[in-house]
Amino acid sequence: MIVKEWCSFCGECAGVCPRNLIQVREYSLVFKEDECRDCDTCIKACPINALEKED
Ligand code: SF4
Ligand code: SF4
Repeated sequence: MIVKEWCSFCGECAGVCPRNLIQVREYSLVFKEDECRDCDTCIKACPINALEKED
C-alpha cells in the first residue's frame, strides 16, 4: 500500500479494516501486508484519497 504525503493520519482506514491490519503511528501507517486480502475497504474509506495500491 502506498500512503500519499497528504495523509492526515486520521485513522479512518485503520478503523474499517476487517482484519485489523493497519496501525496508525504518529507520522506513519503500518500495514501487515502479508495478511491483507485486497478487499480495498481501507482505500474506499479514506476521505482524502491518500491510499493507493502498489502494483
Ligand atoms: S483514512 Fe486516509 S487520511 Fe486517514 S489515516 Fe487512512 S490514509 Fe491517512
Ligand atoms: S485492503 Fe482490506 S484487508 Fe487489506 S488493509 Fe485494506 S481493509 Fe485491510
